Amino acid sequence: MKVLSISSEAFPLVKTGGLGDVAGALPLALAARGVQMKTLLPGYPAVMKTVTGLTKKVEFDNLLGERATLLEARYKGLDLLVLDAPSLFDRPGGPYVDANGRDYDDNWRRFAVFSLAGARIAAGALPDWKPVLVHAHDWQTAMTPVYMRYAQEPEVPSILTIHNIAFQGQFASAIFPALGLPPHAMSVEGIEYYGDVGFLKGGMQTATAITTVSPSYAEEIHHPQFGMGLEGLINARATSVHGIVNGIDADVWNPETDNHLARNYSAKTLAARVTNRQAVAARFGLDDDDSLLFCVISRLTWQKGMDILSETIDSIVGMGGRIAILGAGDVALETAFLSAANRHKGRVGVVVGYNEPLSHLMQAGCDSIIIPSRFEPCGLTQLYALRYGCVPLVARTGGLNDTIVDANHAAIISGSATGVQFTLTDTNSMLYALRRTFKLHADRKLWVRIQKQGMKTDVSWDASAGEYASLYSSLLSKGK
Ligand code: ADP
Repeated sequence: MKVLSISSEAFPLVKTGGLGDVAGALPLALAARGVQMKTLLPGYPAVMKTVTGLTKKVEFDNLLGERATLLEARYKGLDLLVLDAPSLFDRPGGPYVDANGRDYDDNWRRFAVFSLAGARIAAGALPDWKPVLVHAHDWQTAMTPVYMRYAQEPEVPSILTIHNIAFQGQFASAIFPALGLPPHAMSVEGIEYYGDVGFLKGGMQTATAITTVSPSYAEEIHHPQFGMGLEGLINARATSVHGIVNGIDADVWNPETDNHLARNYSAKTLAARVTNRQAVAARFGLDDDDSLLFCVISRLTWQKGMDILSETIDSIVGMGGRIAILGAGDVALETAFLSAANRHKGRVGVVVGYNEPLSHLMQAGCDSIIIPSRFEPCGLTQLYALRYGCVPLVARTGGLNDTIVDANHAAIISGSATGVQFTLTDTNSMLYALRRTFKLHADRKLWVRIQKQGMKTDVSWDASAGEYASLYSSLLSKGK
């Protein structure tokens, strides 16, 4: 089964969050199920420099007036198609923002052109490979199903996966004429969105099926609190909406072989984690003792509940804990955490920035990871944490709800507990959950049981890749 995946990120080449992880790992997991997935990526500098052996496949001489070359290569198990369009993608900043963190003004055009290339491949632009199905991700590629719908060629089925419905690609209606779509596409059935142009909205309207990254989030986005203005459309398309939880790359995230750790370990040698704990303490300037060591590895934003966490830091220290925070995001939150680190030398440590190797070490050395998200489509850090014996303390929402078994009385008795869940309402709700975690940790035998139960949990892509493969098959058989 030939499937084209179109994504603006794919680990290990480009990653700003969970989307990159998923787009990088899913093709490998699907290969075992007879799906031959090619992944279309923009020709960012990191891609053009890192991938060797790129060969020219197609010249596009007019993608919304843009010239672009489609290149192909294999890279670490991924079959890559790379859209080389230097005026759009050869820039020194990130995939979406410039060196000062500002969104590129022409993001709409960059990703419209990129999405259009996807639609051309779907229509047979590659001489030797035509997909039977297209899988797009998030607003950046949501225009692919839109272009497919409004093209003259018969369509293959398409799936749009929503990794976070908060990011919608909404732009002023003035861009519409430059999108190369027929006038009637600027309508409720097309890409019109509250008088603007909505890329994600258009994709949700035109894709054959919509998936999101956990069953709970798939439910939640039917409601205004989580649907962010798109709940009406989700309700209208309810029978085409599926929730498939993310997996993780179990080779990249394996405490037995991970070379970012100070010491490798398994569920049988949990005591060896102490070496990693010491390395974390040294890196974050924390006391090296036996107290409960929390960590945070996150974008520092309101969505992630980081404002609420910052209000509980003094209490964490007061209860005798330590906390290591790795993240970047809102300047006010970065400042709040840095000032907490100043107030509590040896108890609170902060590294502002994005650091993949350090994130591995933290999962291996910390006792518990705190994830107090207000909403969380799936979340990956709790899955890594399960695998590394770092007990997740999570808000009961979205994928956090689906992947962590709360250590309530029944779950402790049955041995199924893998973490702590709480309903995030205010600072007090978080304090209560923290107190509960301290109590569980004080019973070291119970704590080890919870760690081991987490490490036993299957967080690989296996089951979820099976669900995607079944969805692909069902869409193909419906089209017949
Ligand atoms: P989101 O995609 O909403 O940011 P996820 O939990 O789905 O949240 O994915 C976040 C990914 O980014 C995880 O792989 C996590 O380890 C990683 N990550 C987040 N912040 C950092 C950071 N500061 N340094 C290293 N990795 C980070």
